[in-house]
Amino acid sequence: MSDSCGCSTEAGNSVCELPAQNFERKPRVINVCPECGEKGKPIEGQTVKAMVSVSLRELKDAEYLFCKTGTCPVVYFSADGLQTFSTKQIRERVYQKEPNAKEVNVCYCFRHTLGDIQNSSADERKAMVADINAGIQAGQCACDLRNPQGSCCLGNVRGVIKQLEKHSAVAE
Ligand SMILES: [Zn+2]
Repeated sequence: MSDSCGCSTEAGNSVCELPAQNFERKPRVINVCPECGEKGKPIEGQTVKAMVSVSLRELKDAEYLFCKTGTCPVVYFSADGLQTFSTKQIRERVYQKEPNAKEVNVCYCFRHTLGDIQNSSADERKAMVADINAGIQAGQCACDLRNPQGSCCLGNVRGVIKQLEKHSAVAE
């Protein structure tokens, strides 16, 4: 009568005594993209929910990671490596996957495309970065919901500007 484990009495004692936890296989955690083999960046669930174009019923109660490899079509993958979402299943075009496409946003919150940055003067670029910073300060950004990488774009914007400056320095 001392049924401490809560099993029904029909279940034999032999079943009750099994240390059940040892028999639950822990989910395999690989953290590398199953497509390209590069390490992914952990991403918040709400970013995945905001970005995928498939039914959210398909999402698992799992950790998802972001693959930033430019040549890899996978954008998000589950930590166990069993589920992937590729660029075609994402509502936004992803800067990391199309780093040379002029019409793709580099800053998703304030909508600056690569073309915008390339066509700007050095002063305009400075103003652009200042404007993004002001937006961040004012709490107007929503990188977790707008940017497929789930984090602030400023590093990417600065990276593009740095590349352009390097090239213009070479050209002069
Ligand atoms: Zn990948």
